Amino acid sequence: MVSEGNNDRIVPATREWISEAAEIIKSGGLVAFPTETVYGLGANGLDEKAVQKIFEAKGRPQDNPLILHVSGIRDAMRYAEVNETAEALMHSFWPGPLTIIMYAACQADVEDIVPAITRANLGTVALRAPLHPVAISLIELAGLPIAAPSANRSGRPSPTTACAVADDLGGSVALILDAGPTTIGLESTVVDVTRDAVAILRPGGVTKEMLAKVVDLFEGDESDLSHRSPGTKHRHYAPDIPLFLWDGEERASFEMAKGVRWCYMGLREPPRDLDTSHRKVIFASIDEYARDLFGKLREFESSGGEIIIAELPDGHNLGGAVRNRLMRAAGS
Ligand code: AMP
Ligand code: MG
Repeated sequence: MVSEGNNDRIVPATREWISEAAEIIKSGGLVAFPTETVYGLGANGLDEKAVQKIFEAKGRPQDNPLILHVSGIRDAMRYAEVNETAEALMHSFWPGPLTIIMYAACQADVEDIVPAITRANLGTVALRAPLHPVAISLIELAGLPIAAPSANRSGRPSPTTACAVADDLGGSVALILDAGPTTIGLESTVVDVTRDAVAILRPGGVTKEMLAKVVDLFEGDESDLSHRSPGTKHRHYAPDIPLFLWDGEERASFEMAKGVRWCYMGLREPPRDLDTSHRKVIFASIDEYARDLFGKLREFESSGGEIIIAELPDGHNLGGAVRNRLMRAAGS
């Protein structure tokens, strides 16, 4: 994807620019800002018109609800019914990359507090308290919950730099606060605490292993969960060129590499006897793979590469989230 001259919206995330961004959000506009996961496209989550702008800018299906970014547990209690399980999770993992789905709070038990558009008409809300200092300041200065999905066009890889935001959405945002590349690189873990066992609807920076130390996790068939998470049915994270996955054993994926400019990323070297790759990235750790995955998908597609082959890591720790994004990006 080639930048269309929208880089002029990028500003450094200084105190002054964060204040300016908070004013824009308060008056119903859109700003992009860094979090520890990926860059978000933020608006006042309680303002229907502002939230509608997010759906339009991204081309996001209206049935995919948004995450509200709050400052912490007390703030969360205004918008959701925080049960004991949710509270335990918040104490352990907030601020951080964990989104919690809870029943939406109502005023005097009747009037919705979070508008239906933000929740995509569900009776639940998704809340997260981010860890990134710029995101924390922005939420505090705006003084309201910020609805923020990833700041990419719907279906594309999530942005982990301000430039990636400008490439996708530069024309639709007033400001892009730049604080350098994000550190985790994958979106938050999404958990649903409205049933007895906590269900992981999307793996992310807070891993299954970490969650299992604090709460009982749903152990059933994961395909039973897909109807609970509207976002999982839509196409996601896909680069503009075909992506093939390599399990580290079978050579079949590399048949695709014959006679084309192929790009590769993974933890292991690809088989030796192939034609030279067009681009090759070997990550030193699974954390590095997670951090750079989306950036490399974008870099490869704009490098003149014709296909991408990516190694599917095993599912331990951050490997679960990397596998999930790769499989969805490859459409498998
Ligand atoms: P995104 O903002 O694109 O990173 O995605 C947010 C994810 O959270 C999507 O998969 C949504 O479907 C999911 N989500 C947000 N709100 C809810 C909710 N109330 N119930 C279930 N899933 C939700
Ligand atoms: Mg997204």
